Parts: sequence; structure tokens; C-alpha cells
Amino acid sequence: MLKFIQQKSWIEFLAFFLGTLGLLLWLAPVTLASVLEFLKVFIIAAGVFLAQRFREITVMEMVGFLLVVGAATLGAIRFYYRLRTTPRYVGVHCPRCGSKLRRKHRTSRDFLVDRFLPVYRYRCCNRECGWEGLRVKALEDGVPLKSRSRK
Ligand SMILES: [Zn+2]
Repeated sequence: MLKFIQQKSWIEFLAFFLGTLGLLLWLAPVTLASVLEFLKVFIIAAGVFLAQRFREITVMEMVGFLLVVGAATLGAIRFYYRLRTTPRYVGVHCPRCGSKLRRKHRTSRDFLVDRFLPVYRYRCCNRECGWEGLRVKALEDGVPLKSRSRK
């Protein structure tokens, strides 16, 4: 650990930053409201900077941006597919004790989740367990990663 601290040059900047921040918090009359005000000003300044930057954008920057968006989209699609085919999330057995689950009425918050990811609310049939929660609705044409039933 000490060797790591000694070898990394960015530790100096971190130490300087933390020290300055510490002094400010220690000596200056900083309140939560003033910190929030500072953050607000900082975010506005960053927005203005980015807006100016956006006007003089190059083709390669545009290509880079599109690649990032494309990669994020591919990742999101894969993540969604995995959620809807992984037995751990779609199985109809209790994740705590392995007993059977019974469907329950969904809450208004569940319907909000359901807009992005189809879910059902379940309760464990085992009275001693009492688990209750959401399970993801399995993709009908999805290829299960493993067997869906847990014995
Ligand atoms: Zn259970």
C-alpha cells in the first residue's frame, strides 16, 4: 500500500485536492446550501463550456460520439436480453428458500418498472419464508442460458 502511494504521481494531485478541500471545510464557514450553490454554478459553467465546444465539433468527434452511443445501445440490448433469460431473475421459485411462488397483485411502482422491464410480483408459498418481490417475465422466444426450472 505504501509502495503504491509512493509510485503513483496522481497521488500528489489527490493529496493536494483533499488537503485544499479539508482546509476549506475546516476554516471557511461552509454550509450545505453554499456547496449546493457552488455545484449549481459549476454545472451551469460546464454546460456553457460544452455548448461552445459543441459548435466547433469535428467529424472524428462526431464518429467517436456515435460509436459510444452505438456501443451503449448494444450493451443495453444484451443486458435486457440477459435479464429476461437468466434463471436467477425469471425463475418461479423463491430466491431465498426455493419454494414455489404465487402471483400477487402488482403495486403502482411495479407498473412503473414494468414499463421498462416486464415484471410480475410474487410471494413465496412457504409461510415461514414470506419472501415477496419481483420476477422478470421470461422472453418467450429467448434461449435460456441454463435450465429455467430450479428443483
Ligand atoms: Zn421462500
